[in-house]
Amino acid sequence: MKAIRGATTVQNDTAEEIKECVSELLLKIKEKNSLSDEEIICIMFSNTADIRSYYPAKAAREAGFISCALFSSLEPEINGALRKCIRVMVLTESNLSAEHVYLRGAVNLRKDLIGKLNIAIDGPAGSGKSTVSKLIAKRFNILYLDTGAMYRACALACVRNRVDVSDGESVKKLLDKITISVKYEYGAQVTLLNGENVSDEIRIPEISMLASTVSAHESVRIKMVGLQREIARLNSCVLDGRDIGTNVLPDAEFKFFLTALPEVRADRRTKENVSKGVNQKYEEVLKEIIKRDEQDKTRKIAPLLKAVDAVEVDTSYMTVDDVVNYITKNIQGKI
Ligand code: C5P
Repeated sequence: MKAIRGATTVQNDTAEEIKECVSELLLKIKEKNSLSDEEIICIMFSNTADIRSYYPAKAAREAGFISCALFSSLEPEINGALRKCIRVMVLTESNLSAEHVYLRGAVNLRKDLIGKLNIAIDGPAGSGKSTVSKLIAKRFNILYLDTGAMYRACALACVRNRVDVSDGESVKKLLDKITISVKYEYGAQVTLLNGENVSDEIRIPEISMLASTVSAHESVRIKMVGLQREIARLNSCVLDGRDIGTNVLPDAEFKFFLTALPEVRADRRTKENVSKGVNQKYEEVLKEIIKRDEQDKTRKIAPLLKAVDAVEVDTSYMTVDDVVNYITKNIQGKI
């Protein structure tokens, strides 16, 4: 007897999609293992708790698996687990070696099979990078690295040490005396300056422009890019920034460049500010966003730029879910 493993994911918890995905998974398992119906003893499914619309076992019966025993169970809600996922174990009489099958991005359950997954998501401020990147990381059960936070921490260090962010020499000297690092708590990034958690302090609007200015210095970029590459070398992760696809990870397999009209981006940022209790007028936010874009695009080193092989997504009139689904589909289509 032999156990063949497999898994798939669904985008939406609907009966139609569950039936389609289960059928696709089982037919692929049969095909790859050259199995006949008679050789299948039983098929056992488990699915994540966010799938409720249909029993995978029922879907299997309807897909034509009529003679074997079928069983479905619901997995407990586990923090950080791959979402909307259906796993299967097919017990067979066959003695050939098992060909396991992972479809629609579920291969991420098997880190041993995929190796590492690095996803670069670049774009200007307010294009939706961080919101989307966090959700993509969750979907693929990998880390999210907010690289902008590192430049923001540099800017904060300058403010605290009364160093002019535009003075390259002084910034370089300061960099030798400080440490910037990140750690993860319950899957969320915590940004540390000299070991202190500065994740909230770096989000104030005044830091944004200072981060843009400080990030233009070569010494800053060398240090931050080094840290980012090291994290990406050791972990599967989604990195969001301005130069991930062009400079930090030019060989990344998955690259996306998010854009949106400046007015839309300013509107998003203003609403975000309101939710955080930050009082900044829309007009002011728009002005700052345009100025910051210009500064990020025109700097000499690693400017904000779409990599030639990045997929551009204009998010102006898309919902967050639309963007996440679009990117997820694009990635799943390639793995
Ligand atoms: O993305 P966020 O707004 O937090 O980034 C703050 C600033 O850090 C940006 O305006 C940009 O100048 C800089 N940055 C960068 N390269 C990155 C990420 C951010 O130069 N990879």
